[in-house]
Amino acid sequence: WKRLASAASNKSTSLIKAPRQPTGALLFYLRIPYSKALTQTGPAMTNAPITQDVLTIPRKAAEGDKPNLVGMTRDQMRYALIAAGTPEKQAKMRVGQVWQWVYHWGVRDFDRMTNLAKDYRTLLAENFVLEVPQVVTRQISEDGTRKYLVRINGGHEVEVVYIPETDRGTLCISSQVGCTLTCSFCHTGTQKLVRNLTAAEIVGQVMLARDDLNEWPTPGAPKVEVRLVSNVVLMGMGEPLYNFENVRDAMKVVMDNEGIALGRRRITLSTSGVVPEIARTATEIGCLLAISFHATTDAVRDVLVPINKKWPLEELLEACRAYPGVSNSRRITFEYVMLDGVNDTKEDAHRLVELLRGIPAKVNLIPFNEWPGAPYKRSSGNRIHAFADILYHAGYATPIRTPRGEDIMAACGQLKSATEKQRKSDQKVKSATL
Ligand code: SAH
Ligand code: SF4
Repeated sequence: WKRLASAASNKSTSLIKAPRQPTGALLFYLRIPYSKALTQTGPAMTNAPITQDVLTIPRKAAEGDKPNLVGMTRDQMRYALIAAGTPEKQAKMRVGQVWQWVYHWGVRDFDRMTNLAKDYRTLLAENFVLEVPQVVTRQISEDGTRKYLVRINGGHEVEVVYIPETDRGTLCISSQVGCTLTCSFCHTGTQKLVRNLTAAEIVGQVMLARDDLNEWPTPGAPKVEVRLVSNVVLMGMGEPLYNFENVRDAMKVVMDNEGIALGRRRITLSTSGVVPEIARTATEIGCLLAISFHATTDAVRDVLVPINKKWPLEELLEACRAYPGVSNSRRITFEYVMLDGVNDTKEDAHRLVELLRGIPAKVNLIPFNEWPGAPYKRSSGNRIHAFADILYHAGYATPIRTPRGEDIMAACGQLKSATEKQRKSDQKVKSATL
């Protein structure tokens, strides 16, 4: 397992390969509905896999093998420019100029970088590309939520969601194609294809949303104070802490003050609980942390978030208590999906209060977003409010997240790429015609 975790976060590794489970029984790769899993005393519950048997996707280089300048940190860009023939003494200044074009003005055509000499623009164009994922489809929900299906190198697809609100606009981005983990309530976790996104593909999601919203500044126009993409959450497809280095480098680019310049408190990384990587989120990225908590006993969390079997509640909570820089102004968000009859009792709420004692925390209650074939139902409004009341009286801010973009399947945990859906429907057609 450890090998898997480090391989997944190793930049030079393009594949994530889930280890085969110790038992070869196919049964253990199948999703078992919660009701069955909990009532079963046999091996299905205790041995439900942490990871699924995924098909890994090789990462292909950009078209023509030219390096992509998008997604490089400043240091990486400096080395790349020097390697392409930029004199060392000029390299830092050149990085500053290119950086401003790409990340401040949103310009991705070297020819439009008019403060660079023509020869230098040619040198850049001959050696590099500036590429972001390609938008394949864009759906706009009745409530204004936008869902983009974007294609990355190799032809695979991920989803990106933009959620406009009155005082902010949140962009929910993906860190992997699919997810190797098998949370039983999550649609993404059923996807059989998995690959880590590159830093370029992660930063690129922010850039393409700004393109679509027409948010890049216009030279000479007064500075716009209200930002359309004001917050970024790593809550799309994938487990960001299994792709740590690429996520970190991408967020450094997004936070850089001379570019997109989103402050570190405007970025939230959500994890299912990869305990050994949690502290690094604070020290190496500095953004806010959200934990997909979802249960108050190990028995229930083992079923909902199977990674709990590797790092159980006590270890997860210890990592949260020790989270560098955690304070009342930098609280950890505990996400809690409300599943009817599974984790939504008053006893659960009281237990949650006890578990969170001593941790500067807020709790985000997420009404379960149903997807076709999901083994759970959303808790009733009464249940959710009763749960929220208990937490509120114990002193926790407890917003109930309004489901957004449900009509376009854009809500939390519903994201799954169209390639995968297509593959499934192709298979159905195939088996129907056999
Ligand atoms: N892999 C990371 C981040 C992506 S999931 C993680 O698990 O934290 C983002 C959030 O959506 C998580 O809190 C996840 O538990 C939640 N989620 C997944 N499926 C859901 C569903 N069907 N309804 C509501 N929330 C869901
Ligand atoms: Fe992966 Fe997060 Fe879905 Fe779990 S909830 S399967 S970790 S994307």
